[in-house]
Amino acid sequence: MALVVVPPGQMLLYLLYGPVVGKVVQEWREQGRLPLGSSWCLHLILLLALRSLTYQLWFSYGNMLFFTRRRRVVDDGVDFRQIDTEWDWDNMVIMQTLIAAVLVTSRVFPATSDLSAWDLRGWTIAVVLHVAVSEPAFYWAHRALHLGPLFSRYHSLHHSFQATQALTAGFVTPLESLILTLVAWAPLAGAFMAGHGSVSLVYGHILLFDYLRSMGYSNVEVISHKTFQDFPFLRYLIYTPS
Ligand SMILES: [Zn+2]
Repeated sequence: MALVVVPPGQMLLYLLYGPVVGKVVQEWREQGRLPLGSSWCLHLILLLALRSLTYQLWFSYGNMLFFTRRRRVVDDGVDFRQIDTEWDWDNMVIMQTLIAAVLVTSRVFPATSDLSAWDLRGWTIAVVLHVAVSEPAFYWAHRALHLGPLFSRYHSLHHSFQATQALTAGFVTPLESLILTLVAWAPLAGAFMAGHGSVSLVYGHILLFDYLRSMGYSNVEVISHKTFQDFPFLRYLIYTPS
């Protein structure tokens, strides 16, 4: 199995989590048990691990040629130069976790003070916002990133290699990370601001987004293109490599 090994320099970035981990330890000591029902910081750390695992597993799957050779979108696989270049793919996940840590601990965003496990209304708001806001915004932002200086200065890096891998999804400049974060989190923000956010929504939305995104970049046609011809509406829900 192909493994992503984080180089020592990149490891230092994870020290940024010190205060987040410290807060969880403090809450744990105060409550005498794991603060699953009261600590967003704990959920952010768990989410970080699960998100990294999602990209890791899709990266490994995409490189299992004995499994995927016949369903590759671009025949060429990734080479060592690409693996080296896209090494810092996790910057996006690190940045998003830190932004989230600031949001959930600040008084400016009090909507997250409640940690209910499940709220159907919040899920409904998120799905509506995803289809009505996130998908079109992502489409137009991506089109804009392919124009003139935006492409040459920011987005061309993301398209450095013809074949993609799951990790290419995170290989973006900070500006693109920010745009992606705003667009991807709009449904969550909407649900929380309406007072219907929940822990399951945060896990579900973020992990599903990562899952579909890494599948889309895996260079493997998981769902046949014929399925999309027969059911065109699926294109609005599922991101595909082809
Ligand atoms: Zn592009």
